[in-house]
Amino acid sequence: MTQQRATIKTARTIAEVRALLAAVPRPVGLVPTMGALHEGHLSLLRLARAANATVVMSLFVNPAQFAAGEDLASYPRDEERDTRLAGEAGVDVVFAPATAEMYPEGFATAIEVAGLSEPLEGSARGAAHFRGVATVVAKLLNIVAPDVAYFGQKDAQQAAVVRRMARDLDMPVAIEVCPTARAPDGLALSSRNAYLDGEDRVRAAGLWRALSAAAALVEAGERERGVIAAAAQRELAGEGIRADYLAIVDPDTLVEVTTVAGPVMIAVAARIGAARLIDNIVASPPA
Ligand code: AMP
Repeated sequence: MTQQRATIKTARTIAEVRALLAAVPRPVGLVPTMGALHEGHLSLLRLARAANATVVMSLFVNPAQFAAGEDLASYPRDEERDTRLAGEAGVDVVFAPATAEMYPEGFATAIEVAGLSEPLEGSARGAAHFRGVATVVAKLLNIVAPDVAYFGQKDAQQAAVVRRMARDLDMPVAIEVCPTARAPDGLALSSRNAYLDGEDRVRAAGLWRALSAAAALVEAGERERGVIAAAAQRELAGEGIRADYLAIVDPDTLVEVTTVAGPVMIAVAARIGAARLIDNIVASPPA
């Protein structure tokens, strides 16, 4: 049974979190989040708890990764609940800065991970999205100085961008990518699932069925992109879902694959009702 540690602390400023972490036992694990915690976040927190002496969770809805017209204003926020759940998962320190603490007047720097930032979500949401992600993650890594930082496979492109950035900039941190937590019908857990009404929530499971159908073909030896994509599109069409993209890519480079010759990532994004959802699966051809 998990128990809230009496010692969970919330830091709001960079100076405060640095002071709190100055003498804590290492290793330190960091789980960056935008809050509205669900079982996906909690699975990351548990992995961090199991492997580290100190666990830090950041809670920051990062304006820099939202484009104009996206859901920055309506993004679900409930710090009290998030802090309680974090405590139950064994988090030691919550870092919950205000926007002005992260982006003070005159802030002028951005990190750009070329190549990995442009396709898929970069093409759908604009190249600035991953610039915003990379920049805020770099700041969080500099502020918290964790030994390990945890990210979810659900946001596979984000994980790829962060991994590349940490390598390219020689950041002394291990990047761990953790499996996607799913609802019983396969829908990947997401804070944005809160936007789905009953009927759309049922339809949304079509994303997972589409990915599963495509992965099953890859695992059965199908090599042709068109055939694999068509199987996924049939499942999407069955739920009346028109994808922003359905892509079959190299899991590391995110380059499109036309003939499967090794592991591939099948990635999908779609607007369902009021929610824009993404998901992916990695599949390998038979040996
Ligand atoms: P977010 O709060 O959406 O920025 O997510 C914070 C972290 O949790 C990111 O590394 C996400 O990839 C990860 N995450 C989100 N949903 C899931 C999920 N269903 N399973 C595992 N990790 C997830």
